[in-house]
Amino acid sequence: MAKDIHPEYKAVDVSCACGNNFTTKSTKDEIKVEICSACHPFYTGKQKSLEKGGRVEKFNKKFGVQTEEKKEEE
Ligand SMILES: [Zn+2]
Repeated sequence: MAKDIHPEYKAVDVSCACGNNFTTKSTKDEIKVEICSACHPFYTGKQKSLEKGGRVEKFNKKFGVQTEEKKEEE
């Protein structure tokens, strides 16, 4: 086994555009993201307002996705 060809995974600080910071495992020294679990619509619940706006609803209707099923998953 050639162990040296594999990059080392280590704890790295992740900075999000919303100001949230957390730690994950990566081969990089620093990570900057625009969306994290604290500000992502899926976690904040803002996705519901998007559905009211109609864009997601239209998409779901077009492709036959049941919106009720989606909400149950949240
Ligand atoms: Zn964030």
